[in-house]
Formats: sequence, C-alpha cells, structure tokens
Amino acid sequence: MRAEPIRQVVIVGGGTSGWMCAAGLSRMLDMRHVAVTLIESDQIGTIGVGEATIPTLQTFNNLLGIDEADFIRQTQGTFKLGIEFIDWGQLGERYIHAFGPFGRDRPEVRFHQMWLKLRSLPAGISDISEYNLTLVAARLNRVGIGAAKTGVFSTLGHAYHLDASLYARYLRTYAERNGVRRLEGLVTAVNQREDGFVSALMLKDGRVIEGDLFIDCSGFRGLLIEDTLKAGYTDWSHWLPCDRAVALPSENSGPLLPYTRATADAAGWRWRIPLQHRQGNGYVYASAHLDDDTAAQRLSAATEGRPLADPRVLRFTAGHRRKLWDKNVIAIGLSGGFIEPLESTSIHLVQSGISRLLRMFPDKNFNPALIDEFNRSSTLEYEQIRDFIVLHYKTTRRDDTAFWRHCRDMEVPDTLKHKLALFRDSGRIFRLQDDLFSETSWL
Ligand SMILES: Cc1cc2nc3c(=O)[nH]c(=O)nc-3n(C[C@H](O)[C@H](O)[C@H](O)COP(=O)(O)OP(=O)(O)OC[C@H]3O[C@@H](n4cnc5c(N)ncnc54)[C@H](O)[C@@H]3O)c2cc1C
Repeated sequence: MRAEPIRQVVIVGGGTSGWMCAAGLSRMLDMRHVAVTLIESDQIGTIGVGEATIPTLQTFNNLLGIDEADFIRQTQGTFKLGIEFIDWGQLGERYIHAFGPFGRDRPEVRFHQMWLKLRSLPAGISDISEYNLTLVAARLNRVGIGAAKTGVFSTLGHAYHLDASLYARYLRTYAERNGVRRLEGLVTAVNQREDGFVSALMLKDGRVIEGDLFIDCSGFRGLLIEDTLKAGYTDWSHWLPCDRAVALPSENSGPLLPYTRATADAAGWRWRIPLQHRQGNGYVYASAHLDDDTAAQRLSAATEGRPLADPRVLRFTAGHRRKLWDKNVIAIGLSGGFIEPLESTSIHLVQSGISRLLRMFPDKNFNPALIDEFNRSSTLEYEQIRDFIVLHYKTTRRDDTAFWRHCRDMEVPDTLKHKLALFRDSGRIFRLQDDLFSETSWL
C-alpha cells in the first residue's frame, strides 16, 4: 500500500504532557507539511503538581534549544542533585539518591564491590556517601553546573525542580511560535470510522476537529485511549499500594535545598520540593491504611512555612494502559499511566513517549508491527521503573505500622526478585538494556 503521510496531528490536553508534545513535534516535524492542533479546556483543569524531575529533562530542553538559565527563571525552578530519603530503611535512617556516580570503577569490578569488601575488613572504610561528589555537594547545599568536562567535577549531575504549570506555559509560547494551533474548547464527542479509528473530535460549541493522528494527553481519564477505545489498564496496586496524594503548597522557609526530600510516614511518604516562589509539599499514601483527613492533618503538621492553599486530594491507581498506542491514538502523560511520584519519573515518561513517537512516526497505513513495537518498548520502560520504585518499599526494615509491614512482606515482581537475589549474593547489579536507572541509582 502506498504510504500516505500524516498531515494533521491533534493533541487533546494542555497540561505538561500536551504542551511538551506540542513543543517536541513542532521542533522535529516539518511544520510546512503537518498541521499540529492542541485542544484544551478551562473547564477541566490540569493536575498542576509534578515539580521534580530527573536529569533526562536536560536532553529534552536541549532538543528544543532552550537556554537553561532562561528556563530556570521562567519556571521559578531550582537545581536538583537528587532525593533525600528519610526513615525509609528504618526510623532515623537517611540517605541521598544523587545523580552522580560513586567512586571509580575498575574494568571488571565496580567501586561499590571494592567498598563492600573493604568494609568487611578490620580497618573498615568511611561511608559510601563520601565517595559521590554530587551527594557531597547536595549535603553542603552547593551546586556546580557545567563545572568541568573532565575529572571528578565532570561527575556532577543535576535535574530541576520546576513549577509544572509555568513549564507548560513556557512550552506553549514555544510551540505556538513554531506554528502549533491552540483551541480552547471541551471535547464532548469522538467520531470513529467503521474500523474504530478516530476521525474527528466534536467540541461543545459545535466545532469539529478532524485529524489523522490523535495524541491523548487528557490526563488520568484517558478521553480517547480509554473512554473511546477501551485500551484497558494494567493495575499494579498490589505492588504499589499508595493510591492517593494530598498536595499543599507553602511559603518557602529556610534556604533552598538542591534536592527533593522524601520522608517515609505512617502509610506512605511526604515530599518537599523547593521552588523559587514557593515550596511544594505533599503526602502520598495508601487509602487502605489512612483516610484523607488524617493524611491532610499529618501533612499540615509537617509542613514548614505558611500554607498558600487548602490541601487538595488526588486519586490514582499505579499502572499503565495495556495499549499506549491503539489504532490512531497514542496516550502520553497521565492518560498513558502513572506509577507514583517517588522518583519523579512521570515527566520523563512523557518525554520518552514523545521521542519514541518521533522515532516511530507512522504514515496513514499505521503499520501494526510499528504499533506493537511501540507498545512493547513502552510497557518495558514502565515495568523497569516500577521495579525500581517497588524496591524502595520492599527493602524497608520498618515494622512500626501495618503499611510498612505489608510493604516488607509483600511479593514483588519476578524481575525485581531476580535483581535482589543477584545483589544479595555478591553485590552484583545487573541493569537491563535501556533501564532508565543506572547501577548507581540501584545501588
Ligand atoms: C500527586 C502527584 C505528584 C506528581 N509529582 C510529579 C513529580 O514530582 N514529577 C513528575 O515528573 N511528575 C509528577 N507527577 C505527574 C505529573 O503531574 C504529570 O505527569 C504531568 O503533570 C502531566 O499531566 P498531564 O498533562 O498528562 O495531565 P493533566 O495535567 O491532567 O492535563 C490534562 C489536560 O487535558 C485537558 N482535557 C481533559 N479532558 C478534556 C476534554 N474533554 N476536552 C478538552 N480538554 C480536556 C485538560 O483541560 C488538561 O489541559 C505527579 C502526579 C501526581 C498525581
């Protein structure tokens, strides 16, 4: 069959994912031949949280040609060197997952294996955290951006904390400048062809928006991928029992720290994210173990700085759509899935969805093999991130609440079981190809 190119792309949703898609497509597609339209509705807000990222966002911003200093200014952002975990292993314990390596590996032996060996000898060795420059910098409340191309200073890694709504606004300006058309309107009906492909979206005011390819960035509901195409959902709540979050922004208190703080609590964990203009705070918890009011109270009690809004409760189910691409609809962002925010991977999943789409950009034949491959590799990525997040809960030694006892005793995915068995045996960490998290992170 002759390959007819895609001429009209329609994005539904103007949250972080919708505008990241619009910006990415407008940068990489030849906009003289493809029309990109984004529809968003004031009547349905955006999630509005999602303030911590991982270093890969630099790649996305670089692809767009965004200047880092301008980006930090416009998004009220701060630099993030990692995440400090408090009370996870057991009460009183803390460590930082930093975006930089530990020590120096030898050709066949990892640094941490040598460190483990030395630790077992009578002379011992100081804590492993002292061998990671990014981690040491975080503890000293210092950052070094672009400090060096070689030598130990080149190991400094960083990501960002940002105001996700300001980032979406920033990307909107970028995308509109590149020719993306924005429509304000509520999608109330979806027209499908006989074979189920989506042909047009009907807006409340009667407008009809036709398209060849539809990108569903409509948030948790999944307006096209689920409501229309019934793609189904893989539910991981048996491994990731947290299913609610309460968010409460506050005024800044104290110096801006260059890391996110994740403090384990009775039935989940609390985040603290420093931005220039405010502090993001939240409590991610399991509704089977804690009710919303108590969660909000615990969060308020732990929040430093004057609250800037009332606590807002959000509900979610950890997992992902069984098909992230079905027919001519691709789900990116929360419409595609949500693991949970512990390692700040959601915006990364948006970004990797966009680059996967660009690498596999279809024509009007929508080759089923291409769609299968997109779904296979997206699912694998979700599963690898899932295992990493489950690890945080599973390796707890806490037994002070029913929630933590459940986490400690629960079954975990076979892939994670295998990884844990390899590490317990001799400190070996095997990272599968394309696994987002490095050996350092797993360590
Ligand atoms: C508690 C919590 C904490 C999080 N923390 C982080 C974090 O630290 N780091 C991170 O990377 N991510 C985080 N995330 C995820 C992050 O918030 C999302 O990945 C990101 O905001 C993208 O959301 P979205 O654009 O997919 O959906 P949304 O923000 O929900 O946007 C949906 C859009 O669709 C539009 N829409 C919906 N229905 C219609 C309709 N019928 N007609 C027209 N328009 C419609 C809406 O108007 C809106 O513009 C967190 C999420 C939660 C729930």
